Amino acid sequence: MISKLLMATHNQGKAAELRNLLADLPVQILTLADFPDEFVIEETGTTFLENALQKAKAAAEFFGLPTLADDSGLEVDALQGQPGVYSARFAGEPCDDQRNNLKLLQLMQGIPTAQRTASFVSVIAFVTPQGQVFTTEGHCEGIILESLRGTGGFGYDPLFYLPELGKTMAELTLAEKNTVSHRAKALKAMVSELQKLCMQMK
Ligand code: IMP
Repeated sequence: MISKLLMATHNQGKAAELRNLLADLPVQILTLADFPDEFVIEETGTTFLENALQKAKAAAEFFGLPTLADDSGLEVDALQGQPGVYSARFAGEPCDDQRNNLKLLQLMQGIPTAQRTASFVSVIAFVTPQGQVFTTEGHCEGIILESLRGTGGFGYDPLFYLPELGKTMAELTLAEKNTVSHRAKALKAMVSELQKLCMQMK
């Protein structure tokens, strides 16, 4: 059995979602917050897959632990897929959700509702210190609103409207978000692989 699983993220919003989704696995879940200042995450890829693999491989090697990393972002159709892999630093460094949302609103001023379609994307990579690699991907479709709604979640959640629920991501509880989100879909696809590995590995 594996007893510890590292999630290579400093993002506490993501960590809370992933912990909630993995609650049934018989493993202790650690995040980079458990290893303060030891490891710097690099994200130099140009795709979600490259970045997720880069983070998971580097952390698995550094800590010697089976590691899960997510790279995710928002693809807006009217902006030709922007902000994409640059979602976290869309409005520049340091990353700031509020400034990112304002930049998105400004770029989308005057675009009619029918053309405000967007997709959240999550790619999850799982890498073991022995070099086993699994990746999965999840998508969630929605509409970018013209103003912020809701206080939950993180990132672009207050602008991301889910027509079938009549709510933004930021108006959902964590449990609700975890039934529809891109990350939940990618992680659910990964969980059966992890369950098999949990039984096999020491
Ligand atoms: P990453 O940490 O490089 O994967 O950056 C992810 C960025 O994409 C976050 O900082 C957010 O801006 C955005 N993002 C990813 N997933 C979500 C989500 O579930 N809600 C809102 N924004 C998200």
